[in-house]
Amino acid sequence: MGTFEVISKHGDHEQVVFCHDKSVGLKAIIAIHNTALGPALGGTRMWNYQHEDEALVDVLRLSKGMTYKAAAAGLNLGGGKAVIIGDPKTQKSEGLFRAFGQFVNSLNGKYITAEDVGTAVQDMEYIFMETPWVTGIPKDFGGSGDPSPYTSHGVLMGIKASAKEKFATDSLKGVRVAVQGLGNVGSNLVKYLIEEGAKVAVTDIDQGRVKAHHDKYGVEAVAPDQILSTDCDILAPCALGAIINDQTIGKIKAKVVCGGANNQLAEPRHGDQLRELGILYAPDYVVNAGGLMNVFVELEGYSPERAFEKTRKVYDNVAKVFEIAKRDNIGTHIAADRMAEERVQTIGHLRQRHGGNSSRAFTTLREVHNR
Ligand code: NAD
Repeated sequence: MGTFEVISKHGDHEQVVFCHDKSVGLKAIIAIHNTALGPALGGTRMWNYQHEDEALVDVLRLSKGMTYKAAAAGLNLGGGKAVIIGDPKTQKSEGLFRAFGQFVNSLNGKYITAEDVGTAVQDMEYIFMETPWVTGIPKDFGGSGDPSPYTSHGVLMGIKASAKEKFATDSLKGVRVAVQGLGNVGSNLVKYLIEEGAKVAVTDIDQGRVKAHHDKYGVEAVAPDQILSTDCDILAPCALGAIINDQTIGKIKAKVVCGGANNQLAEPRHGDQLRELGILYAPDYVVNAGGLMNVFVELEGYSPERAFEKTRKVYDNVAKVFEIAKRDNIGTHIAADRMAEERVQTIGHLRQRHGGNSSRAFTTLREVHNR
């Protein structure tokens, strides 16, 4: 299949940029899916792709996902993503990231990058030497730092909106929540849930983490293979993707699935199956958008208080998904996409007519860069 055929098969992307610099061994692809709402934002993934087609498909898929995530979050951002082909353990260098930064710069703010799998703050610093169009830079440079507490707070908001929908109250007092995964997102979530008075059960493949949470909060410890069948009201997946699959779906005792993990449904049909089982699914990318909201605040000039406040919006966003699902008699996973598409249509159209208003983000980044 030709390159253009691959591109058109994976969506209606606006622009795909191939970046090549032999002198530093750079092979990268930047995909801009949609800028109707604002500049395309999405991280740069560095991965040892076996074949460049694999890298192309990945960047097309991920950039499209970012359009939906930003739109559903109510942010004035479009969807983009970049991939660097190479082994992040052995092939990183200052030259590589600075050359990549120059390609990002050549897009003049249409694409804004950030960290992703295989890249880290140090790499963003090199990119920042060449372009202002990068987020996730260190706090000293006006960056926003670790996004996960904001992601976790957004997940808590999603859980409260789901409880309201399913149990007619958003109080979590006495509500039993099972948390799978006690990493950055899961551990902050446990803290918030305890503050809300929830009864929490936890699991992780890392027993040290389980013990630490048990000792700190008195939460119930569950074996990793028992967490889905745990008797609880709400299941919060905060570890791996594809956790809702043919093998697991029948085991779930919870009435609600709402957590921070990406790509929780192995396939869209599992969203339909949850619906048939009467289990309310809060779509992952709407629930876990707190980290993206935090980055957006960085673009405006960072304030942790404002970022925290912004993550409260996840409550309304999740509630709106449930409303659309009822309105159109569809699964919540489809309703989330519909909500995102409706916003791209209506607001994107308005911005076209009235000229848009995303220049504030541009100004702040430029000022910081030029300091
Ligand atoms: P992390 O690597 O810090 O934590 C993941 C945890 O899950 C680890 O403690 C790991 O031991 C545990 N785990 C792995 N396999 C498991 C299993 N089979 N059973 C139980 N526990 C298991 O990652 P994170 O940053 O907390 O992210 C968690 C999820 O949330 C990921 O899917 C990530 O893509 C998604 N997410 C994270 C953010 C963020 O701000 N960090 C934002 C959006 C989405």
